[in-house]
Amino acid sequence: MIYFDNAATGGFKAAAVLDAAINTLKYLNANPGRSGHRLALAGAKTVIGARMAVQSLFNAEDTDRVIFTKNTTEALNLALIGTAKEGGHIITTVYEHNSVLRTLTHLKERFGVEYTVTDGSAEQIRAAIRENTYLIAVNHVSNVTGREADLSAIGKIAKEKNVLFLTDAAQSAGHADIDVQKTGIDLLCAAGHKGLGGIMGSGVLVFDKKTEVRPVLFGGTGTESINTAQPRFYPERLESGTLNLPAIAALGEAAIYIKPNIRIFGETLYTLTDALIAELKNIRGVKIYSEPNRYGIVSFALDSAPSAAVADVLSSEYDIAVRGGLHCAPLVHKHLGTAESGLVRASFAPQNTLKEVAVFVKAVSRIASAGLY
Ligand code: PMP
Repeated sequence: MIYFDNAATGGFKAAAVLDAAINTLKYLNANPGRSGHRLALAGAKTVIGARMAVQSLFNAEDTDRVIFTKNTTEALNLALIGTAKEGGHIITTVYEHNSVLRTLTHLKERFGVEYTVTDGSAEQIRAAIRENTYLIAVNHVSNVTGREADLSAIGKIAKEKNVLFLTDAAQSAGHADIDVQKTGIDLLCAAGHKGLGGIMGSGVLVFDKKTEVRPVLFGGTGTESINTAQPRFYPERLESGTLNLPAIAALGEAAIYIKPNIRIFGETLYTLTDALIAELKNIRGVKIYSEPNRYGIVSFALDSAPSAAVADVLSSEYDIAVRGGLHCAPLVHKHLGTAESGLVRASFAPQNTLKEVAVFVKAVSRIASAGLY
């Protein structure tokens, strides 16, 4: 199979990452932060090591404000619901995933939070600021087109206007060097299982010292057990229940592995997207919606068939995995005028090759000229 669906979940795992997950399952079956025996302590040490690796990767202020979640969606829910202000106002963009948009809809219904959807430009974001604006929530890299937001410019606006700045780094973490302090990001939500190269069941919320996040999940933390109220201290405050130790151990290794490779992997992804876009331009009936990018995302439409049908045929006839449809991001498709047929999205890992791109181009070319079957 040719796996070009890495934006959904990464197809490649480094040996150290797999070893971390497998060794945890084999030799570290104890509940970190609960019992005080040797194995439980070793588990707790593994979690702290992973927290430090993630902190270092994003240059976060505080190890204790690195919160492990099961995916980006959970991190975004925690960040958005945990900072919600009754009657407040949020600025967001058309590029957001439903994990943001549906949570904002919930905040509107539950807390009367209003939100303004912008085109993602610093100008529109600045113009949308109101007196009751307390948060700007911006997708770093679109999972549909690979478009990158100008985080530094938006971070400056957030600082100047004294509002929180949240970024959804689901598609950029592991592909871009993100320095949360330099960029002025207060809350960063990322997947462990995509560009970072961890395994499924891992995500992370990283936030700074000036930001308080209220828990959305309550329960056992292994600390202050006499207290029936949730502990006040992070990370326990936001990490109730048994942690996914194999996924956290893998994420820690992934963060260490990816850090020195980000630049070279980004160059490889740029080469792959550049090559695919150049080839797709030669196929009649194909419209491309991406620019070459270091995030490995190329989306396009065939004027002869809806994207979901093209993706199905690529899978069934050519054994190529891509994603069609709307990619859980409805507003960007409305913005692009592709809401009806969706787009075919090929998304690369740095381990994909130009040879695979050539096979893919041939398949698309055949579908474009001969139809689906
Ligand atoms: N945000 C963006 C931009 C995404 O691409 C995705 C995954 N498609 C998510 C959030 C949700 O990520 P997860 O699957 O880790 O919950």
